[in-house]
Amino acid sequence: MAVTKGHGNPNWNRDETILALETYFALGGKNPNSKDPVIIALSNTLRALPYHGEAARKPTFRNPDGAAFKVQNLRSRETGKGLSNVSRMDREIWDELGANPVEVTRLASLIRAGIASELGLEAPSPDEAEDVEFYEGRLLTQKHMRRERSPGLRKALLKKLEGVGLECQMCGDTHSNLPPEFRAAAFEAHHVVPIASVGAGVTKLSDVALLCAVCHRVLHRMISLQRRWIGVEEARALVKAPANSIF
Ligand SMILES: [Zn+2]
Ligand SMILES: [Zn+2]
Repeated sequence: MAVTKGHGNPNWNRDETILALETYFALGGKNPNSKDPVIIALSNTLRALPYHGEAARKPTFRNPDGAAFKVQNLRSRETGKGLSNVSRMDREIWDELGANPVEVTRLASLIRAGIASELGLEAPSPDEAEDVEFYEGRLLTQKHMRRERSPGLRKALLKKLEGVGLECQMCGDTHSNLPPEFRAAAFEAHHVVPIASVGAGVTKLSDVALLCAVCHRVLHRMISLQRRWIGVEEARALVKAPANSIF
């Protein structure tokens, strides 16, 4: 097969590559073919994702040929034969998940849950994308952020804690060094359960923890780096662990 530049289409991201790897496993060693219903289904899913804005409207974007080509790349990663233009993302995903089809299926279904929950919404802005991406995939990560940034949720949480006083549930800081009228600004709401397992509906106050802004960032980074869910309790223990012992 000829090496193509993908008609100037945007690079594949992690979620897209995981979906392609799922298709690779579904083919059970068969050569990917753009007429195969499994490849056509992959192409349709990829074209429905809201990641790439205008670029995704081009007819060549993730079309069945492109989808088959990507699956072929992943295949050559396994066989070591054929194509030499396997991307860094392909290599990373293959090294991480190539021996674990069960995990690929699980992650692909989380990504699809993200798609289902985000349909009708516009593409995430680059600001929202940030630098963390949970194992649940980009869409559910964004959903996590959106939920906990909802002003109503944060207000309700602060109100609930009015009598008790504000304290970060991870580091214990109360920010009492700040004048009382600024103190609340140091705190954020964090959703303590994976979005995929809470589903639609209103966020319950029992599902959110109060964290200082720094701990909240650190916890998100931990979840992103370790590619699994990490609760506040565990995060508290992890930040106290000696340097270099965990990451
Ligand atoms: Zn804190
Ligand atoms: Zn959070």
